[in-house]
Amino acid sequence: MDQRLVMAVNAGSSSLKYKLYRYEGLEVVCGGLVDRIGHDDGIFKLNYGEEHLKEILPIPDHDKGVELILDALLKKGIVKDKKDIVAIGHRVVQGGKYFSKSAIFDEDTEKKIAELIPLDPLHAPAHLMGYHAFKEAIPEATTIAVFDTAYHQTMEEEDYLFPIPYELSRKYDCRRYGAHGTSHRYLAEKALGSYLKGQTDTKIITCHLGSGASLAAIRDGKVVATSMGLTPLGGVMMGTRSGDIDPSVSYYLAERLGISPSEVYDLLNKKSGFLGVSGISNDTRDVEEAYFKADERAIRASNLFARRVADYIGQYYVRLGGCDLIVFSAGIGENSPFYRKLVLDRAKEALGLDVDEAANEKAFAGKEALISTSESKVKVAVIPTDEEKMIAMDAVAAYEGRL
Ligand code: ADP
Repeated sequence: MDQRLVMAVNAGSSSLKYKLYRYEGLEVVCGGLVDRIGHDDGIFKLNYGEEHLKEILPIPDHDKGVELILDALLKKGIVKDKKDIVAIGHRVVQGGKYFSKSAIFDEDTEKKIAELIPLDPLHAPAHLMGYHAFKEAIPEATTIAVFDTAYHQTMEEEDYLFPIPYELSRKYDCRRYGAHGTSHRYLAEKALGSYLKGQTDTKIITCHLGSGASLAAIRDGKVVATSMGLTPLGGVMMGTRSGDIDPSVSYYLAERLGISPSEVYDLLNKKSGFLGVSGISNDTRDVEEAYFKADERAIRASNLFARRVADYIGQYYVRLGGCDLIVFSAGIGENSPFYRKLVLDRAKEALGLDVDEAANEKAFAGKEALISTSESKVKVAVIPTDEEKMIAMDAVAAYEGRL
């Protein structure tokens, strides 16, 4: 039997998520999380079949986190030899202007990610720590970086440029990069294979609606526009993020509240969106429940979210010159018939959508489904996303020299 394995890694500043796949067929073997890195009560988790291991222990740094993962995999006999992990893919949030696809994680890639720290001070240093920890533990593995921004690099200037002084855009690389690119790519590839096979000049709008949410307009498999901006704060309303607002709101609130730019930034990132508008929760399950109890703020938050997503769908319909397929995905998009309907109700008249209500109601918990009828002018589908698998697929491609 082929012992080779592939790992997808998502390293944050205090956490490290991992998922292990068989090389052949990319079947999931196990996954887990190292959390509270830097704390005495760090958390190590491993989910392997029915087994759910959890340990609380000091985890001073990412090196220790990786050591815990590999020790557990060896001890449980999941991995016979560390070297069986032949390819590792690291998720990297910001690839800036440098990366339009996944890249071998070598010194040059590392240098460029380090250069991009001002654009993503929260994640970039953590990604590098995760990379180093694995590199030291398994130096022989083919290691790649998979960027959230890469898939959006096909945007044209008029789609990514902000109307600020042009020299500032250039000097500081201040432009739209988008995010969730790995998810949008996975969804577009799946959608093309499942629903638009053999068709040329395809036009897809992908809606990744999770606690972070973004849309992408994709023509012939290439992104022409996406809703997140310089950072993931832009675009539609999200769990705790405002999405697009009049930029003067920042200035006005800073003045009225006597707070600093970074405090305003925090307010727009962590206290707005569903949480801020509903006053209930950032989790749409709670807001949806309150909606049906006729809670006014829950209704307001839900309608605002639906309006903003529908507006982007309308914008992208124009940008693409039509649309063959709208895809819903991520936590909300995959699991909530209610929010899908709320969005589609606001777009259906203009786009000639005809939604199969029964199919919509049945599509949740990881099910893929077409939820439009044959009468609909645009197809609508629910496709569960899988960013880790996409990362593993790229890692395999790199290992086989196909990247
Ligand atoms: P992220 O990866 O950005 O953290 P997810 O894609 O996992 O987010 O989405 C999480 C959000 O999706 C939750 O906050 C909640 O709003 C929504 N969600 C998750 N599961 C469900 C569910 N079973 N039903 C309805 N909404 C859900």
